[in-house]
Amino acid sequence: MARYFARRASQSWSFRRAASARAARAPSDSCDQGIGSLLSDKGDETHGRDIALPCKSKGCPVCGPKRRERKAEQIMKNFAGGSIHAVYIEDEQRDTFRKNIERDGAKYHRIPAPDERSIILTDAQVGEVIDEADVRVVVELNPNDGRRMTQSREWREPPPSGRWNRVAISPLNATKRVKVYIEEGCEPVRAPTATGLVGAQDVKLPAGDSAEMARLKERLRIRDEEQLGPEGWPQ
Ligand SMILES: [Zn+2]
Repeated sequence: MARYFARRASQSWSFRRAASARAARAPSDSCDQGIGSLLSDKGDETHGRDIALPCKSKGCPVCGPKRRERKAEQIMKNFAGGSIHAVYIEDEQRDTFRKNIERDGAKYHRIPAPDERSIILTDAQVGEVIDEADVRVVVELNPNDGRRMTQSREWREPPPSGRWNRVAISPLNATKRVKVYIEEGCEPVRAPTATGLVGAQDVKLPAGDSAEMARLKERLRIRDEEQLGPEGWPQ
């Protein structure tokens, strides 16, 4: 495979140095930019739960580090102990690169790096072999500039599973949401909260396609959950 990586592949990357600033930040425990979310119990659609879920954005001092940690874990899991090869490329090379990797039956993670470049981590025999600490640094270096990390189809994360569906999200704060639930007869009751999550309320939900549900959503000024993207959420 060496032919198409040519000089780029031999370019060395001082992985550890550049990430020190980010690593030095000390995150607190829970995300205070949490997104008001209405969940429904898959086993009983009249059982709802209102909770402020973490924002999961890269730039959040709480969610950002967690997200990067999770990503590094996912990458290590995908490589399953096999050697990890790193190649530093210009973003404009990425399609060619991906096609070549896939044609050879290899797999990859692409992590955007500063200066319109990306780092490819692959099981193809190219570039330099890196270790777990290097993987964490590569993920740390990923700037919050809207470019997404991508990967081979086989290495995509499965959609979240669990007890709850997210019905919708609300821009109202928790106090206002609870007021709406009370006024709409949803009888909010404090619910147990998982570690790192802000207060939760159990609520009674009208049927999904009823006029009452439509009014509840309107009063919560709810938007479609799709606007949040494909990320999962804690159960
Ligand atoms: Zn957050």
